[in-house]
Amino acid sequence: MGLTRHDPARTSFRALDDAGLRLPVQLSFNKVGDTARYPWFKLTSMVKCLEELDRVNLLLPAQSWEQSQEMLGTYWARFRSQYPTHEVFGLLTMEELQMALPIKLHGDEGKKKSPLMLLSWQPVLGRGTSKSVQQPLEVQNAAQKLNLLGSLLLTRWLLFAALKETYSECPSALDDAMAMVLEDLNFACHTGVAVNLFGQSRRLRFVAVSVKGDWPFLIEAAHLERHFRRAPKRERSDMCSNLGVCHLCLGGYQGIPYEDFAEVPQWEQTMQSAAAMVPWHSESPWHSLPSLPSFRPWTFRPDIFHNFHLGHGRYFVSSALEWLEDWLTDDMVAELSQQDRRVAFIALGVQSMNAALRLLYRGGAWLAAADSASIAFFGLEHLRAYKKLAQLSIDAREPRFPIHCKAHMLNHTFRFLELWAQQVEWVENPLADSCQIDESFVGVISRFSRRVSPRMTILRTYDLYVTALRDRVHQGHDDASVLE
Ligand SMILES: [Zn+2]
Repeated sequence: MGLTRHDPARTSFRALDDAGLRLPVQLSFNKVGDTARYPWFKLTSMVKCLEELDRVNLLLPAQSWEQSQEMLGTYWARFRSQYPTHEVFGLLTMEELQMALPIKLHGDEGKKKSPLMLLSWQPVLGRGTSKSVQQPLEVQNAAQKLNLLGSLLLTRWLLFAALKETYSECPSALDDAMAMVLEDLNFACHTGVAVNLFGQSRRLRFVAVSVKGDWPFLIEAAHLERHFRRAPKRERSDMCSNLGVCHLCLGGYQGIPYEDFAEVPQWEQTMQSAAAMVPWHSESPWHSLPSLPSFRPWTFRPDIFHNFHLGHGRYFVSSALEWLEDWLTDDMVAELSQQDRRVAFIALGVQSMNAALRLLYRGGAWLAAADSASIAFFGLEHLRAYKKLAQLSIDAREPRFPIHCKAHMLNHTFRFLELWAQQVEWVENPLADSCQIDESFVGVISRFSRRVSPRMTILRTYDLYVTALRDRVHQGHDDASVLE
């Protein structure tokens, strides 16, 4: 990771620096794996940099301090109502929380197309979704806005990037990175960042409320022992691997099928058991994030985008289309229903999931209890229709509609929505933990990394990032850009 004098990219970037073309955010250097001084961006450094440019308001949920405080107060009151025992309420007073931005941490462990591992953060509250902004303003404000809309570089903020080879050769690299991020986050939570905001000196705090990412990242970040890779290859409940496929419950253990979509599933009763509470093989730095003492695995959230759009939904669509190809020749669907019972369940599966997703995207950061109950109803109806399709296909000896562990994670999501709807007035929208926009962010940073010499990848990627970020910070959000 050393710098060389003869790198042409370095010379040109020094010129950019001199001309003030990069965002002047300070890089920090810590030991990561075998590298003594690994560069990364502290959250607190990014906030201080935005302060120098008088743009800290980019992070706030509203355009005035009073409105932002009111919104943060509402956020934390609802959060407390849903999670009364959460550790954050032992760390900060409600008064301090009125100046504390809830954030999510996102990680991506790199794929074939993007060989970078990234860590980033994002405020929970933002500018809404393309569907929610069509709602009347008072409805949007009451539900508070999700952070899925606006310019990518102003809604997600980079912490750390590493080449796949760096961390695959050095198992401690991710833990080291998470530990240094944690230290900075602890400071940002306990002490806060002193900033001049709207002409006054204030102390802005940041609290990470959950960690999101695709399942492989969650496995690495939380040191998970129970996850989808433990599932038996042939997905049938009588072939449980007895290792568990889910970090939230004991689904997948002998006699506890994870494909149980019943009204009160058997796996749900295992969630509070001592065995279910420790789904990891060792401590991870991010286990120390403020959490629910009675349910620590909940820091690491299932993600609707990976579990449905890139997971279970694909099985549903491919199986249904394959089935349709055989049948949809000249006859009408009505006739088909009489010939194959699956037609009705396919139709129900499509309608119910569409209804659930429509309500989710129309919602804000918080779902009114009635909406939460409706989403749960439709989502669970979809899963039960799917299970029926799986059973009918087994009866017909056709290998269609497999039930993957991702369907189990969706079951958790919808069941939580159902239970919370009975307990609180406002329920966290699970889309706040969904990763579609984060995947786009990873794509942008990865494209930077492909434009630079392999020898200097990380530093030059950071250079391109802060150069692009400088323009974006000065221009503000481009309202034409819809990123979902
Ligand atoms: Zn589970």
